[in-house]
Amino acid sequence: MKALVYDGPGQISWTDVPNPAILHPSDAIVRVDTTTICGTDLHILKGDVPAVHNGRILGHEGVGTVIELGQTVSNFTVGDRVIISCIKSCGHCTNCRIGLYSHCLGDEGESGIGWIFGHLIDGTQAEYVRVPYADNSLYKLPENVSDDQGVMLSDILPTGFEIGVKAGHVAPGDVVAVIGAGPVGLAAIATAGLYGAATIIAIDLDENRLDQALVFGATNTVVSGSPGWKAQVLALTDGAGVDVSIEAVGTPQTLTMALDLVRPGGHVANVGVHGQAVTLNMAELWIRNITISMGLVNASTTPMLLKLVAQDKIPASKLATHHFTFDQFLEAYDTFSRAAETKALKVILT
Ligand code: NAD
Ligand code: ZN
Repeated sequence: MKALVYDGPGQISWTDVPNPAILHPSDAIVRVDTTTICGTDLHILKGDVPAVHNGRILGHEGVGTVIELGQTVSNFTVGDRVIISCIKSCGHCTNCRIGLYSHCLGDEGESGIGWIFGHLIDGTQAEYVRVPYADNSLYKLPENVSDDQGVMLSDILPTGFEIGVKAGHVAPGDVVAVIGAGPVGLAAIATAGLYGAATIIAIDLDENRLDQALVFGATNTVVSGSPGWKAQVLALTDGAGVDVSIEAVGTPQTLTMALDLVRPGGHVANVGVHGQAVTLNMAELWIRNITISMGLVNASTTPMLLKLVAQDKIPASKLATHHFTFDQFLEAYDTFSRAAETKALKVILT
């Protein structure tokens, strides 16, 4: 088969590799029908995620068709259309039992595989993929949900919701700032609205992305770093600071912005992946009673989010702005990495 292989920082190729095979009885082999590219893939390409070794097939989002099942898989049959979760988890170990799927310990031969595809095992930017622990890592796609909608449930919708909105304790009536209106930030904006946030302020450098933020439910937009940007945000809170700020970029500068905007006693939910160490002024955060949360998505809320997508309560298909075929992978990466010029949100490959 053909797959997108990581050959070290800045180096990827669409190349021939052996087809995946069932290695454990709980595995499934899925034909990838639709996949996409994530901000995290760009971090990997930059060399920010050293655990990804040369030769690894990238990608952790996908919708596909089950073509082969290991002996113990009981929730699926060959031919099922499925969402492939970015997290694969056994569902039985001590971490899975408390919903910490991203730290699955594995209970069947493969240990420590809770991490995203493309990290410790081969990913979805390929014609076929092996999915360990298929019963807990795949979700059946209803007929009325398209591939473009379904692929947003592999990672970005659960990430924006779980690591942004839920971990940030967004509550009805809150003022929420979302820094970074990329696909993950837009997912946080859409799901913060479902939690009853009264004011949702999108902050980005890219005016196209701020326009998109309004489509996903932002009530206000602010151009990041523009003169008076902070005063503009604080004016929307009567000067008090926002209840929750969600960082969806992954830089020390934007984390500092999130910390600066939040009111005393507020929450900062850091979603972005940081490729470098960040310094925190603990004394200043202590005196203001700030809570900071962070982490890898567990994707345990995927079934709930799938229901909302199926009812069109989350405009998932609006994230799919560009379409390519698999043999155009390198062009697709180029389009996604130049999003400010191309206006790309999610680049879909079929
Ligand atoms: P993206 O690169 O498409 O979007 C990032 C956005 O941030 C862009 O719109 C960009 O214009 C904006 N931005 C850059 N600098 C800024 C600044 N100074 N001020 C305001 N905005 C700024 O990425 P994405 O796919 O939306 O992902 C966002 C982040 O979430 C990435 O760091 C990604 O790795 C991370 N992520 C985390 C998890 C997790 O489990 N925690 C999962 C998936 C993705
Ligand atoms: Zn587990």
